[in-house]
Parts: sequence; structure tokens; C-alpha cells
Amino acid sequence: MIAEVIVDISTSEIDKIFDYIVPPTLDLKVGDRVKVPFGRQQTEGFIVHIKQTPTTTHPLKPITAKLDSFTPILPEMIELMWLMSKENNLRLVDVLRLFIPAMMRGGRVKEIKRHFVTLADGVTFESALSSLKPNAVNQRAIVSVLSGGGEWAAVLGEEYGFSAISALAEKGIVKVAEVTKRRRPALKQVQDKEVRLNMEQDAAVEEIMRGKHAENLLFGVTGSGKTEIYLRCIKEVLEQGKTAIMLVPEISLTPQMMGRFRARFGDKVAVLHSGLSDGERYDEWLRLLRGDAVIAVGARSAIFAPLQNVGIIIIDEEHDGSYVSENNPRYVTSEVAEFRRAYHNAKLVLGSATPSLDTYRRAKAGEMGLITLKNRVNGTKMPEVRVVDMCAELRSGNNGILSAELIDRLGETLKEGNQSMIFLNRRGFASFMICRKCGKVMKCDDCDVSLTWHKEDNLLKCHYCGKPYVVPEKCPSCGESDMRLGRVGTERVIEEIKKRFPAARTLRMDKDTTRKKGSYDEILSAFRMGEADILVGTQMIVKGHDFPNVTLVGILDADMSLYYEDYHSAERTYQLVTQMSGRAGRADKEGVVVLQTYSPRHYVFAYARDNDYEGFYKKEINIREVTNFPPFTKIVRILSVSEDEERALALTKEMLVKIRAYQKQHPEAFVAVAGMKSPVKKIENKYRYQIIMRLVREREGDSLLKVYEIVNEQDKKNASVFVEINPQNMN
Ligand code: ADP
Ligand code: ZN
Repeated sequence: MIAEVIVDISTSEIDKIFDYIVPPTLDLKVGDRVKVPFGRQQTEGFIVHIKQTPTTTHPLKPITAKLDSFTPILPEMIELMWLMSKENNLRLVDVLRLFIPAMMRGGRVKEIKRHFVTLADGVTFESALSSLKPNAVNQRAIVSVLSGGGEWAAVLGEEYGFSAISALAEKGIVKVAEVTKRRRPALKQVQDKEVRLNMEQDAAVEEIMRGKHAENLLFGVTGSGKTEIYLRCIKEVLEQGKTAIMLVPEISLTPQMMGRFRARFGDKVAVLHSGLSDGERYDEWLRLLRGDAVIAVGARSAIFAPLQNVGIIIIDEEHDGSYVSENNPRYVTSEVAEFRRAYHNAKLVLGSATPSLDTYRRAKAGEMGLITLKNRVNGTKMPEVRVVDMCAELRSGNNGILSAELIDRLGETLKEGNQSMIFLNRRGFASFMICRKCGKVMKCDDCDVSLTWHKEDNLLKCHYCGKPYVVPEKCPSCGESDMRLGRVGTERVIEEIKKRFPAARTLRMDKDTTRKKGSYDEILSAFRMGEADILVGTQMIVKGHDFPNVTLVGILDADMSLYYEDYHSAERTYQLVTQMSGRAGRADKEGVVVLQTYSPRHYVFAYARDNDYEGFYKKEINIREVTNFPPFTKIVRILSVSEDEERALALTKEMLVKIRAYQKQHPEAFVAVAGMKSPVKKIENKYRYQIIMRLVREREGDSLLKVYEIVNEQDKKNASVFVEINPQNMN
């Protein structure tokens, strides 16, 4: 028999499948990892197909060995590999690597073996004692311990000496078995009571499990009890003897949330996230593959959990940007989820309080079901959102970061003994330019997205068409010279709070304060325990945290994400304001949100204030259609990265010429094509140049294949080239 093997070689461009002979001594299956001779070396590989006759007439070599005692890649995943490779233009081996823990590659798995001692078969306590000399005190003691059941050799040896155990084993009185010790991630114990579902929740579970659609959008305001619905659906699925995959954004994988799953399902849960050690990750993965655990809970990559017979896949906070992988190999989690759902004829639930425009559009078009939860479980109202005009603040003489209204309310909240959260918007590296007098933001004439300042040449540029603009000295709208760039940091905010309220206890959460492992959870639980009055933080404080004593939320520089040079920016801002508002007044206390902005009349804030997603959706989807942005077009970025700037530039130029030639033949397929430096020119000492294009929807399939073809035929020596579809950020 012949096996088709994909060799696991990291540095080369090789993505060929090679034939090897299956030696009769090896029991090999599709999905097995094997050792094979390759050139002069031995290398690891994956069997993707087994056949009777070879494809070539070359003499073939035999497979050297089987690498694991189990088959790590399920047949489903082989099918998925073909699909992902084709649709995302990925190397097969890069896709396969997504499916197994990194630790398995290169023979780095070290299983920890422990020895477990029991009485040998047929030996009883009495028979053992009668065969031992009276003065063999330690051996007799061990036998009496074992009469009550087995014990670890380490424990017995410590107490009675290892030689006594060996002596007993030699006489055949005891048996020593090797057991693999499993590392388990420590999980916090949380109180969990199985609540009675309310009518909305009941109906949602019913619809998900037995409704018309296999895929549903669960659109429920924050605190409407979505997690409870997930838990209930998973329980049903397990009762049917099936398995479940539950995805949450990385940042929501708090001990609190994991604890809730563990409390409900115990050992049946395996967790997969970036906080695990390699060993823990491997062991959790293996528990899933073996069926010892039947629920995979984790961030994006848990979509590849090696589960069979999947009954339900849930993607919570489906709008979250972390579901699109930014690193090679790039993939979109929901696309993988759709494949796996169909493969298993399972259910798929996308949950959100602020669905992505595209998901909502598809639900409205009937491509999936739409389940709406209108009320919060505990009956509390959504908080009041107060929009504060920061230009007016400035005119009235307040030059600070905090508005008069926010200062007043902070004072009141402190007095009442409640907690506040202050959110600081700091997305990306890009800076937009705003007039502090009238709020005018510099935008591209052609694309209607805000311009980004480029330090090297001191120009404002549009990231979609590349058009450069001179930095204005005076505001083109009001004539004042108070144009501003840049932003404030969390430290500045804390300083200002301290100046006003010296007694206030503050906590800060940003990239700097969360560098150490575990510090993220420490800060959150300190805040939950009431050890601080005010939590100041970046994006990290936005998601899924339930703090019952928070009654005030401040959002500073809400514009930051609004004018981020990105067509998503209104959508992002709406999501952010809504998610952040969801933090206020969760328990029996009503909350207030103070939202500071230089553009108080922007439609996003009006819809967010009224909690009118539907209104926002209609407005925004219309703008996208008129301006030719996704979901009505596809944005494709080809990023060339190299330590040699000339090389990155040359590659970009060569590909641009080819794309322009294609564009000339098919002008109807493109909205725009531009080549330029990436907004962030250098990351980790590598220069970055990019080609950005917008493809017209009807034609995007063909044009995309052409783009892949152009990229693939390019000689990429000393450089890497990435193709991204609708990139989350343009750095
Ligand atoms: P969401 O995921 O929509 O934000 P959760 O499922 O986390 O909402 O629910 C918010 C809070 O309400 C949680 O503390 C949860 O335990 C509680 N809860 C959910 N459903 C019910 C219910 N039917 N009865 C009582 N409490 C509930
Ligand atoms: Zn433009």
C-alpha cells in the first residue's frame, strides 16, 4: 500500500504531497503522523490519503515509523484542510499545524509517567501476609495499605522505602502499572445554580434545538441571559450523546466564566486558550480526542477541537475582531464553524448584543435564523447614555481630559460608595487629525474614511486609495488653528482623577499593567471585590465582565474608533459604546454612561444612546452600499514584509504592475487599487509595503483567484507575502 504524505517542513515553500510505501509492519491510517525519509534527513509528516498504486514511477521509500499511539487528525479535518487551503490560499501543512498542539511537532511531547501499585491478580491480603516473613515490616505494611486499594509508588516509597516495593514486585505479590499523569489547568470554583429559564430564554433554546434553522443568530442585549441559554443547549446536546464547542473571545476567558462551565459540567469540559502551558494544552487536547472531555471551551483556535460527533457550535460575541486570525495561516472562525456544523449536521449559534453588520444582514435575508432577546434577565433598564460635546467643554474653558459632567458624576458615585469604570479608546497605532474647536476630522474626498497621519513624510493619507494630503495648519472648516493629533494614556487619566479626588482608590488596566501572567485576572477580581472605586482601562475592560456595583461608565475620546481609518469604524464604535454601557447598572442599580466626543451629532452616538441597533444597522448598511465597502465589496490587502526595505518595495511594485494589468482587462471587477507603505512602516525590524484593492462582489471569486495566482508565482526570497481579506486593521 501507498501513503500520500505531507511533510512538515517549516522553511520551504514546498507544499507537495509525496508517496511512501506503507511497510506491512506498521498499522497506518489516514490522519496519522509519521516519520519519513526526506532528502538526506528524517522528517515528520501527515498521511492524508492511502491508495493501492503510486502516482509516480520513481522508486519509493518506506515510511520509517508511526509517531503517535493515536490518530491525531480526524477524517473531517483532512476534508477541512483541503477546503481551507483552497479558499484561503494556505499551504496544506500550515493548515494541518492548526489542528494539533504545537508541542506534538518535533517530538517535544513529554508525558509524565507515574507508577501505581496494586496487589497482583489473585493475591489477597491474607495470602500475601502468609508468604511474607514476620520481620519484613515494611513489605507487610505496604500489603496492608494495598488491601484497601491501590496507591502511588511515590507515596508508598516515601513512607516504606522503594526497595520494599521492588521486593514485593519481584515476588509477584504486587503489580506496578505505568500511568500517564495528566496536567489539568487550575480552574476557579464558582457558585453556580441552575436557574429557571424565563420565557424568552425557553423559547430561544427551543428554537436553537428544534427550530427551522440549523444556524441561528442569538441577538440579545447584554445581561439577557445568553450564556444561560448556551449552557442549556449544551446540556441537551450531551444528553443526546453528542459533543459541543463553545467559543468566546480570548479576553472573555476569565476564571469566572470558565468556572461557570466547570461548575455545570465538571470534568467533561476541556479548555483551550493561550494562557495554558504547552503541556496543559496538549493534555486538554488529548482528552478531547479520546472523548474523555466532550465540551471544548476556548478562544478562536478551539474551533479545531478534535471532537467527533459534534452536536452544537456556539460563537459568543460573534462580532469580536479576535475571531479573525491575524497571523499566518489566516482564517475566519465562522467559516470553519460553518464547515464543521454542516459536516456533523449540528447546530450553530452566533451570539451577540451587537451583531456584526454582515451577520445581521444574512440573518435578515433568511440565510440563518434570528432569535431576539429584548429584555435583561433581572429586569433592569439599559443605562442612560449622556453624550458630552468636548468642543463645547473647550469653549467653556475646560482644557482637561474629563468633562464637567463626568467629574460631577464621579464625585457622586464615590459618595454613594459605588464603582466607576473609565474606558479609554486606544485602537491601533494610527492617528487621525481633528479640530478641537469644531470637531472637524480630516477625511478622504473620495473614500469618506478619515485620513491617517504618516510620520515619515508628514502627510495625511487615505488607507484605502492611497491619496496623500498636506497637513493643514488651520481647520478647513472653521479656520481656527487648533488641529490635534495623538491621544491620552491611562496614566494621564489616573493623574487627573487623583487631582480631583485624592482619596479615590484607582486601578489601571492596559498593556503595561497586564504583562505578567495572571495580572489581568488579579486586577479584575480586585475590582470585583471592591478594592478600588475606579477602574481605568483600554479595550481590555470592555468585554463580558459582570461587576454588580458599577453604576457609572465613562467613555473618553469615543471618536478614536470612529475616525480610525477604517470603514468598520462606525460599527466598531457602536459595538464599543453598547458593550461598555452593558457594564453599568447590571444588578439592582441603575447605571449612567457619560460619553465624551468631539462629534456629538454623529449618528452612531444617537443610535447607541437609544439602544437602537436596528436603526443603526439600516443607516450603516446603506452607507456601505453607497460607498462600496464590505459586505458589498471585498477588501484585499497584499502585504509584503522583509528585513530588506528594497526587497519589500520591489515585490510590491512587481505585483502591482500585474494587478493593474488585470484591472485594465477587467475594470468592472475593481473599485480601487493602491500600492503604498503600510501605515506602520516597520514592525519587528521588518519593512512593510502593501497593495490594497476593493473587489466588486459579483466578480470577487475570479479576481481573488487571480490575486492568489499573482502572489503564488512571485519569487518570495527574503520576504513574506500575506493576502488578507477584509483585514481587521491595516497596520
Ligand atoms: P448575557 O450572556 O446575555 O450577558 P448571562 O447569561 O451572563 O447574560 O446572564 C446575566 C446574569 O443573569 C447572570 O448572572 C446569570 O446567572 C443570570 N441569569 C441568567 N438567566 C437567568 C434566569 N432565568 N433567572 C435568573 N437569573 C438568570
Ligand atoms: Zn481615499
